[in-house]
Amino acid sequence: MTTSATETIIDPALQGAYQEVLRRNPGEHEFHQAVEEVLGSLGPVVSRHPHYLAESVIERLCEPERQIIFRVPWTDDAGQVQINRGFRVEYSSVLGPYKGGLRFHPSVLLGTVKFLGFEQIFKNALTGLPIGGAKGGSDFDPKGRSDAEVMRFCQSFMTELYRHLGEYTDVPAGDIGVGSREIGYLFGQYKRITNRYEAGVLTGKGLAWGGSRARTEATGYGTVYFANEMVRHAGRSLDGQRVVVSGSGNVAIYAIEKATEFGGTVVAASDSSGYVVDEAGIDLDLLKDLKEVRRERIVRYAEEKGGNVRFVEGGSIWDVPCDVALPCATQNELDDTAAATLVRNGVSIVAEGANMPCTPGAARTFREAGVLFGPGKAVNAGGVATSALEMQQNASRDSWTFEHTDERLGDIMRNIHERVVTTAEDYDRPGDYVFGANAAGFTAVADAMLAMGVI
Ligand code: NAP
Repeated sequence: MTTSATETIIDPALQGAYQEVLRRNPGEHEFHQAVEEVLGSLGPVVSRHPHYLAESVIERLCEPERQIIFRVPWTDDAGQVQINRGFRVEYSSVLGPYKGGLRFHPSVLLGTVKFLGFEQIFKNALTGLPIGGAKGGSDFDPKGRSDAEVMRFCQSFMTELYRHLGEYTDVPAGDIGVGSREIGYLFGQYKRITNRYEAGVLTGKGLAWGGSRARTEATGYGTVYFANEMVRHAGRSLDGQRVVVSGSGNVAIYAIEKATEFGGTVVAASDSSGYVVDEAGIDLDLLKDLKEVRRERIVRYAEEKGGNVRFVEGGSIWDVPCDVALPCATQNELDDTAAATLVRNGVSIVAEGANMPCTPGAARTFREAGVLFGPGKAVNAGGVATSALEMQQNASRDSWTFEHTDERLGDIMRNIHERVVTTAEDYDRPGDYVFGANAAGFTAVADAMLAMGVI
């Protein structure tokens, strides 16, 4: 996978701010890439509203409000002490309490968390709900660890993090490597340390203890609701489309479920070991059992299905021809070579279920080929939006039905689509979802920030 710092053209008026980000955050390539992607859209916005430049809004937004790094000591099953590093980057609280997930993966560095936190500010603004932006995590790898080890790690992590959290302060959720098991251990330790049943301090909780119906499904379902709006806007439909979804985690599984419900055939899914191709359509019961219950590798899917299902070790899932591509695994998983292959094979829409899965070169390739391209900060905002709905239910000590929550999710995704499309049109950039999402998200945050003075 390659990324390039030169794929996006940044307006000269914003170059100073971008160069300062590079200078002050050396080596944080993913963070640079995320900033570059947003600033690459903002030229027309600051030219129409020069006071954003005069008031140094860009410089303020590129600097997190608070960055927390801490040691996480824990003991493994063999009695050996292990040391991991914990992070929480509280990026912006102008629209509401800091909000964004925790990622447990060995690749997590400060720059990873900053890139995710930066994206989260604008994504959360697009939902129209009162939530600020943050992200956190650790270089801990839950894969291959026993439940007891994961619990001890989570307890140690929360023993440090709890002092920074609160339902009006900072509300984490899950991300890669953090699902309902981890949220349970984290919430248990928070409750124990604080002696408060403060349900609204974490989202993604189990249904029996303050969780929201449809939160598990929300990011994947929301991704497909947004993709559906994109194709509808272009006068087409998802019905009968051939779909490829990368990943087989939380976002991927529920994107597959909803895409199938909308009449698509999802022919391939993956994990970090490789991908499977099932021309009959991915068997979700089997995939859920393998990934959500048995925590198996994806090769087992091919082994248990047999027949014509094939497993390709390593390789690129984007070699599989499709009409609709939904990258739902991780950042920079789809580069310009993969994008060129997809274009050659006739892809007509790409919607990012993951955060920044397409490199700048891939995004440019899609744009130049006239492929509809939906950026993650708009497409996958359904997860955090439903987290905000979970906070609403916790605050009112209520519990909504699945149908009600899913309906609100659908409305929110349609509203985000509308907001992105109208903003792009307002700036004479029809169909440019990247521009529309960046401009609309930025404007909402910048205006609130300015209203609050120099903070
Ligand atoms: P998850 O449940 O942990 O699943 C991640 C999936 O991606 C797994 O199948 C994993 O395979 C695969 N993967 C991870 N790293 C990979 C790599 N380097 N190469 C290939 N495959 C890789 O995580 P998730 O919650 O679905 O999150 C997926 C993406 O969506 C992330 O970008 C996340 O930030 C974004 N997102 C998530 C939410 C949410 O609500 N969960 C909301 C918004 C955005 P292995 O198991 O082999 O590692």
